[in-house]
Amino acid sequence: MNRRHALKALAGLALCPICAPVGFAAEGAHWSYEGATGPSHWGDVDAASKVCTIGSQQSPVDIQGSIKSLLPPLQFAWRTKPDMIVNNGHTIQVNADPGNTLTVGKDKYDLVQFHFHHPSEHLIGGKSFPMEVHFVHRNLAGALAVVGVLMTAGKPNATFSKIAAAMPASEGKPVKMVAAVDSNGLLPARRSYYQYAGSLTTPPCTEVVNWLLLREPVQVARADIDAFAKLFPMNARPAQKDNRRFILSS
Ligand SMILES: [Zn+2]
Repeated sequence: MNRRHALKALAGLALCPICAPVGFAAEGAHWSYEGATGPSHWGDVDAASKVCTIGSQQSPVDIQGSIKSLLPPLQFAWRTKPDMIVNNGHTIQVNADPGNTLTVGKDKYDLVQFHFHHPSEHLIGGKSFPMEVHFVHRNLAGALAVVGVLMTAGKPNATFSKIAAAMPASEGKPVKMVAAVDSNGLLPARRSYYQYAGSLTTPPCTEVVNWLLLREPVQVARADIDAFAKLFPMNARPAQKDNRRFILSS
């Protein structure tokens, strides 16, 4: 195992708590966003990742329409400010402390981490956005709820500016940020959302995610998007077939 793979394995264990209950791509398994190890080959990464190719509830999707429904409100109770950031080779991720919860109806989840994609992974009516942040939550049974927030260029966002300033330029272990960040700052004012059943958007693409995509984007500084894009010019999986899944909207 070379150093790069050793780091990746460590990162997988320490930083991918969402992977523990759902399995993760084998140690050292290599995947990327282009070429021979790009998204159309993820099913070949290892046995656990076959579902990337053969699954029927894959994410992201292009939301072309939705069914207006009486969905429960998203009740965020993110109380502590995270201060650990990592470049895991695929994205920039901020690790959350335990005890920051999301309640959706009768279901209660704990925030595990959040990370970014450039451009957005979800599309709305065929439209892509400059970036998307994924807040990964897990409940005691191991089920995942991921809140997606689309990001557009506009007014600077204090939370994202701090993250952009702290991003490690190369893959490595988590490092402490100079100042902790307020995760709530990346949520838009309005919390109406789309909901559908989907998957992780990276190998092993496990189909265990209750997707909650907020309809209203947040604005962040163009310079901060550019800084992220310099590190990750393209880290978005293309939209997957919806296979006639229902997409609900609140
Ligand atoms: Zn993601």
